[in-house]
Amino acid sequence: MAARKKPDPEGAPARSGKTAASAAAAAAAAAKGQSKPVASLRLPIGQGAFFLRMVVAARAMRIHHAVILSGAQGTGKSTIARWLAAALMCPSDHDVEAPCGVCRHCRRIASGIHPDLHLLRPLDQKLITSVEQVRELQDTLKLSLVEARARVVLIDPCEALNEEGQNTLLKTLEEPSAGTFIVLCTSRPEQLLPTVRSRCEQKTVRGMTNERIAQELLARNVTPFSHHERAIRLAHGSLGRALDACTERTVHIHDLVLATFADSKALRPLSMARNLLEGSDGRADAVVRVRLYLQLCAGEAGARMQHKLASGAQGSYPPTASEPWASVLELALLGLQDLELQIPADQVTAGVLLGIARLLRGAHAAPNGTVGRGS
Ligand SMILES: [Zn+2]
Repeated sequence: MAARKKPDPEGAPARSGKTAASAAAAAAAAAKGQSKPVASLRLPIGQGAFFLRMVVAARAMRIHHAVILSGAQGTGKSTIARWLAAALMCPSDHDVEAPCGVCRHCRRIASGIHPDLHLLRPLDQKLITSVEQVRELQDTLKLSLVEARARVVLIDPCEALNEEGQNTLLKTLEEPSAGTFIVLCTSRPEQLLPTVRSRCEQKTVRGMTNERIAQELLARNVTPFSHHERAIRLAHGSLGRALDACTERTVHIHDLVLATFADSKALRPLSMARNLLEGSDGRADAVVRVRLYLQLCAGEAGARMQHKLASGAQGSYPPTASEPWASVLELALLGLQDLELQIPADQVTAGVLLGIARLLRGAHAAPNGTVGRGS
């Protein structure tokens, strides 16, 4: 076992504090004497003991040669993968628990331009990573390492490899060349072939706790502070989502979602749709707005459904049903699919809002919670 110090079983607070400090010092040192800003490695935050153990093992070059990092979107898998690559490749013996962050290896890993770091991902906004890309990578891996002590392949997201691509990759996962480590990131591990999964060590990346997100928003001085509570509620464990939720646009659109759900009698679907699209800067912007609205609708409906189910489980009588929120959630998800199918944003919005109004009025008319979907 590579760990020279026992990680804190509580997870990282104490340890990551030290590592955060060393990373901050590293960033400050990197900034010194650099007139141009250099991309710096980002320390993954809010991860538990598993993460610390993995980094310590990576510093000692004793991790499995192929690791799958799986977890929901926005939980920081890519940041962890990059940190892990630096832990493997950084030659500094200054810290057994973190890459130094300032050497030329670390700096070039942060910028994604290290000759021993290989990124395998879809090119040119395509959805699929091609088999040709896998074969090219395999040819490169036959060559010697250029200059680092290890070579790292980041496959992110690995579900972008179709079945043929994954099958082609199998040989590399089975017998990587010496000093080569492969890190696969995915939010859909079920889309990986069993033969791929069985050749890798699988690690789950968890979302951050609400408390940790709150601390981070304060530490980053995200203003206005009055938005933090809402941001934490919308974050679902992702700091990135929490930061997005503090923007004026998200706050405005989330207010529209709350207004949609507030009073079914007062809801005017078409004027709400106009309100949402008002001031859109072209078609693409309208799609962005509507997508955000539907995502927030789905999130709110999901949260209300959970709440109803939980209060039902606590034995309230008569038992509460999860309707109409399950149906509202379904409508929002269908609306998102329609957007992906290039159906015009105004049409999608009007359709979803009319459906929501019908559902909420149906729920209002049926006090036992059963919803007439209306005709
Ligand atoms: Zn370094």
